[in-house]
Amino acid sequence: MRPYILEETNWKQIKNQKYEVAVLPWGATEPHNYHLPYGTDSLETARIAADAAKKAWDKGSKIMVLPAIPLGIQNMGQIELPFCLHTRLSTQQMILEDMLSALYNQGIRKFVLLNGHGGNDFKQIVRDLQPEFPDMFISIVEWFKMFPLAQHFEEEGDHANEMETSVIMHYSPELVRPLEEAGDGKAKKFKLKSLQEKVAWAPRHWGKVSEDTGVGNPKKASAEKGKKFLDDVTTKIGDYLVELDECDLDDLYE
Ligand SMILES: [Zn+2]
Repeated sequence: MRPYILEETNWKQIKNQKYEVAVLPWGATEPHNYHLPYGTDSLETARIAADAAKKAWDKGSKIMVLPAIPLGIQNMGQIELPFCLHTRLSTQQMILEDMLSALYNQGIRKFVLLNGHGGNDFKQIVRDLQPEFPDMFISIVEWFKMFPLAQHFEEEGDHANEMETSVIMHYSPELVRPLEEAGDGKAKKFKLKSLQEKVAWAPRHWGKVSEDTGVGNPKKASAEKGKKFLDDVTTKIGDYLVELDECDLDDLYE
C-alpha cells in the first residue's frame, strides 16, 4: 500500500495524515501506432505521477496522487478510429471543476494537473476556473515537454515516437508489441510554408498525416533509454512537489 496513491490507500491512513498537495494525472485513450496500447498516455502519466510522488514523499512531503483521467481531446482523422475516445474541452472543464470543488471543500489548496497528452491544453480552463477557487494554487506540469527530446533520444516525433515507446518499454514491457511490428511513424508536413515555419497553426488531420497513427519513428526505442529519461523527469517533478509542499501560498512572489 503506497500512502501517496489514492486508489491504494485507505481511510485509516488518510484520517491520520494531513496532505498538502494533490496531483491529478490526465491522459487520453487513442491508438498509438501498431505497437503501443490505447492507454499509453494515461498509463505513463499515472506512473510518472506515482514515481515523482514517491521521491517527494521520501523527502517528507505529503502528496496524494488521484486516479488518472483517461479522456483527451483528439484530432480529426483519429476521432473516427474505433475506440478513440475524443472528449470535448467543455467536458474536461466540468470534470476538472468537480475535482477542484471536491478537493477545495476538503481543505486542499495546492493542486498539480499532470498532463500527458499533447492534444490537451488546460491553461485556459485553469484561468477560467481560478476565480472560483481564489486561494487555491492550481498548476500544470506537462512532463513530455520538460526536456528537449534530443537530450535523451535519437528520433523526434510527438506520438508513439521513440520517447513514448521507450517509456512504455520501461514501465509496461508486456504491453508493447515487438518493434518489428511497429509502423515507422512517418508523418507528412503541411505544404504551406507558413505553417511549417509556425507563422500559423492549425490542427493536423491525423489520417492524412500518418498511416499507422504514429508521429515519430519508434524503432530505436529501448527500456534503458526510457528509464534514464523517466529518472530525470520524475526527479524534476518530485523536486517541484517538495517545493510546492513547503511553500507559503501567501508569499509566492519575489
Ligand atoms: Zn501518447
